[in-house]
Amino acid sequence: ETLDKGLEKSKTTFLSKMSKAVAGKSKVDDEVLDDLEDVLVSSDVGVATTIKIINRIEERVARDKYLGTAELNEILREEIAALMAETNTGEETDFYVPNNKPHVIMVVGVNGVGKTTTIGKLAHQFKKAGKNVMLGAADTFRAAAIDQLQIWADRTDVPIIKQKMGSDPASVAYDAVQSAVKNNADVVLIDTAGRLHNKVNLMNELSKVKRVMQKVVPDAPHEVLLVLDGSTGQNAFEQAKQFTAATEVTSLAVTKLDGTAKGGVVIGISDQFKIPVKYIGVGEGVEDLQVFNKYEFVDSFFK
Ligand code: GDP
Repeated sequence: ETLDKGLEKSKTTFLSKMSKAVAGKSKVDDEVLDDLEDVLVSSDVGVATTIKIINRIEERVARDKYLGTAELNEILREEIAALMAETNTGEETDFYVPNNKPHVIMVVGVNGVGKTTTIGKLAHQFKKAGKNVMLGAADTFRAAAIDQLQIWADRTDVPIIKQKMGSDPASVAYDAVQSAVKNNADVVLIDTAGRLHNKVNLMNELSKVKRVMQKVVPDAPHEVLLVLDGSTGQNAFEQAKQFTAATEVTSLAVTKLDGTAKGGVVIGISDQFKIPVKYIGVGEGVEDLQVFNKYEFVDSFFK
């Protein structure tokens, strides 16, 4: 339900473009496929992924000889879910923290994408699942970042490890992980700085944060979660490119899908980067984060 509401704008925009593309046509032909291509690209699926989807549908048309436009949405749902098979099984339903303790999640992304909010929402969900959660404020570059994370720590009632602005991010991460071990925490979420304008600095900073936390927990971080703002469309692709070049990203959260018609970005990013989209943000509230499930997603989008 939250998902349907969150994707409403993407869905209505997409469906209205689709109905224009197939207006007056009963059969999927080259013209319909051309129009569908435009619809997918303008829905921020991205050109490369759009071409893959169109190819899959063309193959189906060739195989089955006939495809009615009435079935096109259903076929799109199937083909897009199949395209995402490499990164999403479709069985993902719950917020889940593995049993290794502490499970360290390093959260990366550019300022303003919803990184802090996503950390707060995750802390809330993990806590709801009965886990002991801890936050680490390793974005020490902006005072506001530390303050914002503190607000989420208060709101969700989880401990936060922080130092003053300008202190060494790696030192904060070290403290946070060490404190998590000492307090027997299940999961620790580490916020990091997101300054993209200096790529070498970003790369160095993230690898130092990792290296230092490994002195406490050798296999940390267990996850590197990249947060992307879905409402920025193609910009999100660009950020994914830059962050995956700077560090090894293991999962994605795509935020702000409510209030944007650019929801197709989730499909393209999942396909282009072969990194699972694990969470999607569909609002500003603490409950407005969902575990990404491709079947629920395509249903909300195309049905
Ligand atoms: P950060 O700089 O990346 O840490 O970004 P913040 O977490 O501070 O979020 C920036 C703004 O985006 C805030 O006003 C959030 O309330 C808002 N925001 C974050 N996630 C979502 C979302 O899923 N939907 C909407 N509508 N707003 C969001």
